[in-house]
Amino acid sequence: KTILAIETSCDETAVAIVNEQKIYSSIVASQIDLHKRYGGVVPEEASRQHLLTINPCVEEALQVAKLTWNDIDGIAATVAPGLIGALMVGETAGKTLAMIHQKPFLGIHHLEGHIYATYLSQPDWKPPFLCLLVSGGHTSLIHVKDCGIYEQLGNTHDDAAGEAFDKVARLLNLGYPGGPVIDKLATRGNPKRFSLPEGKISLPQGGYHPYDFSFSGLKTAVLRLVEKLKQENSESLPIADLAASFQETVARSLTKKTITCALDHNLTHIAVGGGVAANSGLRDHLQEAAKKHNLTVHFPPLKLCTDNAAMIGCAACDHLKRGHISSWNLGVQSRLPITDVMTLYLG
Ligand code: ATP
Ligand code: MG
Ligand code: FE
Repeated sequence: KTILAIETSCDETAVAIVNEQKIYSSIVASQIDLHKRYGGVVPEEASRQHLLTINPCVEEALQVAKLTWNDIDGIAATVAPGLIGALMVGETAGKTLAMIHQKPFLGIHHLEGHIYATYLSQPDWKPPFLCLLVSGGHTSLIHVKDCGIYEQLGNTHDDAAGEAFDKVARLLNLGYPGGPVIDKLATRGNPKRFSLPEGKISLPQGGYHPYDFSFSGLKTAVLRLVEKLKQENSESLPIADLAASFQETVARSLTKKTITCALDHNLTHIAVGGGVAANSGLRDHLQEAAKKHNLTVHFPPLKLCTDNAAMIGCAACDHLKRGHISSWNLGVQSRLPITDVMTLYLG
């Protein structure tokens, strides 16, 4: 089944044509430059930009793939979770094209897409496995059981990991998005220079939640530390050491909980998804810990970790193969738990 897929949940307008693991084309028009000057994504600007870019991206995807509408078996679009106005542009475009060309339409859950990035880059990868999803808006541990069947085992109680990178970069005046800059700075910093708190979620019966995350306390600790350092020495901040110590703390926390979760649930395979999967600190820590515990870990290539439509198409392909099709009445949702993926399909 060949799918034309559309992704507009946040600040990337993306269109791809895929058939299972084969990517015929994957177009990503990033809006980063547009949002940079505001230091974050402005929802109205994002929707307007999607509207301007979506049709040229569809044309380009067909051209690069050297395919016509006759070759397409289904059309997919991300319908949840994400910015409502942004999602609506992709959903409307997808449904309209599906009606005109008489193809089935499939609404796709954005996080299921991030999970499918693993299948795209590792063809023999099969469920069950544990997926650590670390992106700009989410930090979750998901037990992947089958297509559309997920159990959420861990989650963040406040900021997402990527959000923490972005906020810390902002308070260090490093610009947006923060992850790549901090990652680069960290390579020449001392990760042991500052000791920062790993976020822990207390349980009412005492002890800590073993798989849940918290990053807002860490962000505040960096802020206090920066204020203190500025008072002590007004000349220059040791930003490389700050970046390295912060990154080390995030990587350690993510690694510890992911490994514990995998071992507790007898899952021998771990996949990572989302933009923070690009982080070198996380890659080093998780790979080393996995090796120690005899677990297999897979990081998709960077362009499949950040938002793209190929991962959405790959998920849609699997659903269509199983006969899952969405109703024309399916709308978009800003929030939808990954456990509710099957509510997107008829029957
Ligand atoms: P969501 O999928 O939750 O809706 P999103 O799709 O916007 O969010 P992604 O595009 O997957 O998120 O990832 C963007 C995030 O990844 C940003 O917060 C960015 O700072 C972070 N990021 C990118 N590269 C790195 C890196 N090398 N180290 C750490 N973080 C990174
Ligand atoms: Mg993004
Ligand atoms: Fe995403």
